[in-house]
Amino acid sequence: MNRITRSGAGLRLEAITFAYPGGASMRFDLTVEASDTVAIMGPSGSGKSTLLSLIAGFEMPASGRIVIGGEDVTLLPPHRRPVSMIFQENNLFAHLTVAQNVGLGRSPSLRLTEEDRAAVADAIAHTGLAGKEKRLPQALSGGERQRVALARVLVRERPVLLLDEPFASLGPALADEMLDLIAALHREQGMTVLMATHDPRDAERFSRTLVFVEGGTISAIGPTQKFLSGHGPAAFDRYLGAHRALR
Ligand code: ADP
Ligand code: MG
Repeated sequence: MNRITRSGAGLRLEAITFAYPGGASMRFDLTVEASDTVAIMGPSGSGKSTLLSLIAGFEMPASGRIVIGGEDVTLLPPHRRPVSMIFQENNLFAHLTVAQNVGLGRSPSLRLTEEDRAAVADAIAHTGLAGKEKRLPQALSGGERQRVALARVLVRERPVLLLDEPFASLGPALADEMLDLIAALHREQGMTVLMATHDPRDAERFSRTLVFVEGGTISAIGPTQKFLSGHGPAAFDRYLGAHRALR
């Protein structure tokens, strides 16, 4: 993919505080190096999605600062941030084709230049969707729909990619395939990736750094290998143990 090149941006959350109406207060401090791969793990309801939403700008903090690539983005709306996000599901517009859904990453009005069209075609080829450009989302498998979401992220060329349990609705084989694709794109393009996941296998295969979220805050951060080899904090081992027991 030669038309789509980019690299990662470093990321910093400084004393970010946030609460949903009537909810408990959360607080996040976090530094991520440019081009790092980060797994965000923690119990259900601990604040993983909220953390990603704050970085993407879908939620606004009560106080604190978010700096991405050296720029203070705290007050910027989502579309002005150098960030793309993929959700667990419902990433696509049902009435638009694959090519149009991807094209939205370039232009919200779908007025595409030659260069935009070339980037869309590249991204579609790169995510293994060639030949399916004219299909509607309903005519795609769950895995293919997530690939379309990924292709749209690619044409946006943002240096930070956020993934919120993107494989949770896919079977294990498709999930592995998606993870391999994201890993390959990361090797090629070096974007900074933060991925919320429940699956320690995904974290192990993909991430260099692990962020452990508990009770609305980051309670630990360190090398994924260290955490998963039993040398992380005791609370993380307890979380993994409880999680394994559930599976
Ligand atoms: P996780 O992604 O780790 O499961 P979330 O970030 O979704 O956790 O949720 C953190 C906490 O905030 C939970 O207590 C959840 O119930 C609450 N919460 C999440 N979204 C909302 C919302 N839109 N309005 C009110 N409370 C919310
Ligand atoms: Mg969540």
